[in-house]
Amino acid sequence: MATASASRAYKNFINGEWVAPNSGKTLENRNPANTDEVIGVFPLSSQEDVDAAVSAAKAAYHSWRLTPAPKRAEILYRTAEILVKRKEEFSREMTREMGKVLAETRGDVQEAIDMTYYMAGEGRRLFGQTTPSELPNKFAMSVRQSIGVCGMITPWNFPMAIPSWKMMPALVCGNTLVIKPAEDTPLSTHNLVGVLAEAGLPPGVVNLVGGDGPGTGAALTRHPDVPVVSFTGSTSTGRLIAETCAPVFKHYSLEMGGKNIILVMEDANLDLAVDGAIWGGFGTTGQRCTAASRVAVHKNVYNEFVNRFVARAAKLKVGNGLDPTVEMGPCINEQQLQTVMSYIEIGRREGAKLLTGGSRLSSGEYAKGWFHQPTVFGDCSPKMRVAQEEIFGPVVSLIPIDSLEQGIEVANGVPYGLSASIYTLNVNRAFAAMQDLYTGIVYVNAPTIGAETHLPFGGTKQTGNGHREAAVAAIDFFTEWKSVYIDYSDKLQRAQIDNN
Ligand code: ADP
Repeated sequence: MATASASRAYKNFINGEWVAPNSGKTLENRNPANTDEVIGVFPLSSQEDVDAAVSAAKAAYHSWRLTPAPKRAEILYRTAEILVKRKEEFSREMTREMGKVLAETRGDVQEAIDMTYYMAGEGRRLFGQTTPSELPNKFAMSVRQSIGVCGMITPWNFPMAIPSWKMMPALVCGNTLVIKPAEDTPLSTHNLVGVLAEAGLPPGVVNLVGGDGPGTGAALTRHPDVPVVSFTGSTSTGRLIAETCAPVFKHYSLEMGGKNIILVMEDANLDLAVDGAIWGGFGTTGQRCTAASRVAVHKNVYNEFVNRFVARAAKLKVGNGLDPTVEMGPCINEQQLQTVMSYIEIGRREGAKLLTGGSRLSSGEYAKGWFHQPTVFGDCSPKMRVAQEEIFGPVVSLIPIDSLEQGIEVANGVPYGLSASIYTLNVNRAFAAMQDLYTGIVYVNAPTIGAETHLPFGGTKQTGNGHREAAVAAIDFFTEWKSVYIDYSDKLQRAQIDNN
């Protein structure tokens, strides 16, 4: 058994150096599958540490901004190459720090690799527009400009992928940054930042401060030298960040909750739909913002679907994600497990039918972790809390529906709008769903999870504040437009509005 005193003490990364926090305070990172195992001791940074990181980023901005974008991109290419080489090591460390199964942590690192290559490619694009001027002998174009120091606050469920979604576009656009990873998963961000440094990023361009939300995270968010804040996490924290940023007109992007749905129509390939609902509902122990926590099934196939789905859910092997036969890991921490358990009670009280699961796993091999059974509620009405609120755990609510129209009404009848999916072999139904589902992401004959890095990622309503991550959408967030007019007529030419 590792003890906190014997475990490695990790540091902050400020101005190109690994430094212990001025605060002298630390946070312990433990394996949620076995809480006896201490992954490491990480900084709990103070305002002073955040100030040091922001001033390093501010100083580095002057030359990074002027480094040609293709040169900035070369460092990202090198970063991706190193990540490819170290993928297995980082994946195993990620499973130990946050519990999801190895196949999924490999996917998490792969997503960071994909995003890094993609954004490296942007170094030779970052396209603006050229357009005819309304006047003779005048040239008009728009170019992108970087903004400055970006503050990044990230969650624990994709501890390398999500930081990469924010860092890589910010960097290729010429910004510098300070990132504050989640308390539960600082190691994966530490690994990513280490690779960027190894790839040759100049000192101060990327800075990492470990810490908590209300102290370290809030200090970064409100810092006057941080004009851009990119956040992924809970809706309640997102609201606080908006309240900090809005009065001083910072740019802020919020990526928050979801209550995603799979619609299974009467003509669906049911084998495929069951596979998709199992993967979408229980992948990452249901702890994805895109998790399929609701499945609405047409009444003609409801019983058949329920029987097959529940049988599969009940058989999922739960355990330590490093065991290759395990299909579902633990919840991230005790608090998240308690939230799941409280929703089981809520579902029972509001009359949802518990079809499988419903309990914590705490004996034998589960004694030292935050494990919960895969759980399915049947016969849910769309307004029940288990069908409305984000649970962020291995709980799926099944809702019977009569028609596609009703399915879409149910799908759209929640405060969130991240991801939705439909299983149907009818092309008219597929296109109608694509048109009418009010979400940021729609899948046809695939579950609600599985976003690719070159398409925009994000959601409508309370999922976000109108921005998108990944793809060119991320470039839009991390740059500002500058319109440039070049008059080569050698005389004063007035624009049309001043010429009447
Ligand atoms: P989750 O429920 O997924 O842990 P949180 O919103 O609590 O969601 O956490 C997401 C990230 O936001 C974490 O890095 C956390 O430390 C940070 N955070 C929490 N509270 C604040 C805050 N008041 N200001 C800035 N960051 C915060």
